Amino acid sequence: MAQTRPIHVLSDHVINKIAAGEVVERPASVIKELVENALDAGATQIEVEAVGGGRQLVAVADNGCGMGRDDALLSIERHATSKIEDVDDIEHIATLGFRGEALAAIAAVSHFTLTTRAMVDEAGTELTMVGGKLVDVKDVGSPIGTRIESRRLFFNVPARRKFLRSDQTELSHIRQIFVVYALAHPEVGWRLVVDGREVYRLAAGAELADRLRDVAGAELARQLRPLDYHAADVAVRGYAGLPAVARQDRTEQYIFINGRPASAPALYHAINQGYHTLLPPGRHAPLFLFIELDPEQVDVNVHPTKKEVRFRQPGPVRDAVIEAIRRALQPAAAMTDGSGGFGETASPTNADGRARSPDAPAQETPRLLIPDLPAPRTFSFPGLPMIPPAPTEADTTQSKTRPAVPSPESSKAPWLWCRVLGQVGGLYVVLETEDGLVLMDPHAAHERVLFEQFLRQYTSHAVKSQGLLAPETVDLLPAAAEAVRENLPLLREMGFGVADFGGAAFIVDALPACLGGAAPATVLSAVAETLARGGSRGGAERWAEEAVAQAACKAAVKANDVLRLDEIEQLVVALARAEMPYTCPHGRPTIIFTSYPELNRKFGRT
Ligand code: ADP
Ligand code: MG
Repeated sequence: MAQTRPIHVLSDHVINKIAAGEVVERPASVIKELVENALDAGATQIEVEAVGGGRQLVAVADNGCGMGRDDALLSIERHATSKIEDVDDIEHIATLGFRGEALAAIAAVSHFTLTTRAMVDEAGTELTMVGGKLVDVKDVGSPIGTRIESRRLFFNVPARRKFLRSDQTELSHIRQIFVVYALAHPEVGWRLVVDGREVYRLAAGAELADRLRDVAGAELARQLRPLDYHAADVAVRGYAGLPAVARQDRTEQYIFINGRPASAPALYHAINQGYHTLLPPGRHAPLFLFIELDPEQVDVNVHPTKKEVRFRQPGPVRDAVIEAIRRALQPAAAMTDGSGGFGETASPTNADGRARSPDAPAQETPRLLIPDLPAPRTFSFPGLPMIPPAPTEADTTQSKTRPAVPSPESSKAPWLWCRVLGQVGGLYVVLETEDGLVLMDPHAAHERVLFEQFLRQYTSHAVKSQGLLAPETVDLLPAAAEAVRENLPLLREMGFGVADFGGAAFIVDALPACLGGAAPATVLSAVAETLARGGSRGGAERWAEEAVAQAACKAAVKANDVLRLDEIEQLVVALARAEMPYTCPHGRPTIIFTSYPELNRKFGRT
């Protein structure tokens, strides 16, 4: 029989410890609460300190409004807040905090010192608490503002202490929190000191672009493209990372809703969609998304610490995010504008001008040798934008002081001039460019070039179709045959001449001209399989795009095709002119770039 215990009201002490569990998970969450308080106090300078992964000490000092002694004593009481007076206020909170729980919760589970001075006071006040008990109150000399120290976090809650990870992990959470708030508030000056070492010092009064460069580092900043998209009720600004700097998790994806850091899983799918055809599944590019919308449309109050945001109408926000990312990475103009860019020469062709078929590789061409070392041909592309494109309206405010984050790499071309040095491993093309050494996978590069060419024609309803000399009968798998039958008009628009031959057989008498002499059976079945899969994923536009990617893949040069120098040259030119030259439509890289600074570093020449 279970032992019965008398019912009793928990002591405040215990309640505080429980509440601490909600707000205080780890050293980084202490910092988050203290930093929010500092921002709410109007600080323009905030200093964060951590020792021993934050277990030994976390401290936040600010130059905000500070508190008089009475307020200081009140602030550590549970449910003591200066930020709301009654429930109605919750509807329109302008401050980051309002629950009045954080200080009490932190004080309950650590050795806690609060030093503060309000402008009107001569002396400051220092409160010392241990495990939630006030042990000392005294006058001290103090600058205006507040400094809160929390030592030995969870010293009295072993169960919580057990959940803390290595110093390294705790520090990375601390850094993450620091970066998030430093980005949300470029106007504030910030400093992060870890184990006595200054990790960040960020000057007050910065523009977002400068702050981003300081926080992310110049190297990463160069791999970012500005986002700037305004829909009816949503604006999306910020920066999107190029596929080359993608990683396996979302830790470098930062989302701010109306200026506040937020986590918004509702947007993850939209972000992936934005990178569709640029990144393989499971890869995530760095992203700094600043979303502005009517606050009434946002529900921030989902979780007290996680700041997980819900949208009353997620649809328009998702659409805006997708569009913003797509425009940043592959400007819409390129998709619809049939002029400019690379021409039909983009695909490697034989001397007689006939596009090469993978079935009939140009075996007669000799393996590429580069005998002309003294002066190989160089290419320059004067028509390509070199310096960052003119700032868009929304950028101009940031651009007054300096150009927006990405510097020369804002040009879409990966090189402005280059020379082909040769082919290694029977496959990879080696290029010298103005910025460094490039290895190019010709198959991936050709896929990208064909994909964009084909897609541009397709979206502007101008696919050129080329009749086959001998129509071919193609047998498909049943599901693929079904898909073809259902999508005959779409396939015609894609430039396929296809007729139903009964059963699972079709007659192909024309192919998209830009795919050159690709094998009809290979291309049609690749497209058909995509269409068959596409039905369940919805969005005709999206799977047409995927089908185009498949077709481009099948038509592109094969890894074991031997390329002639002039073919390589054409490919290099075409890739430089591609909208998104860095990856194939399935997200594999087309080029690996090693900058001269990187080479210098590797050779110890710094
Ligand atoms: P909340 O932020 O939800 O109000 P907290 O427990 O975090 O609750 O803080 C309680 C109160 O203490 C705040 O409402 C504020 O008045 C005061 N306070 C806390 N930190 C600071 C600070 N850094 N500067 C000035 N006042 C502060
Ligand atoms: Mg607070």
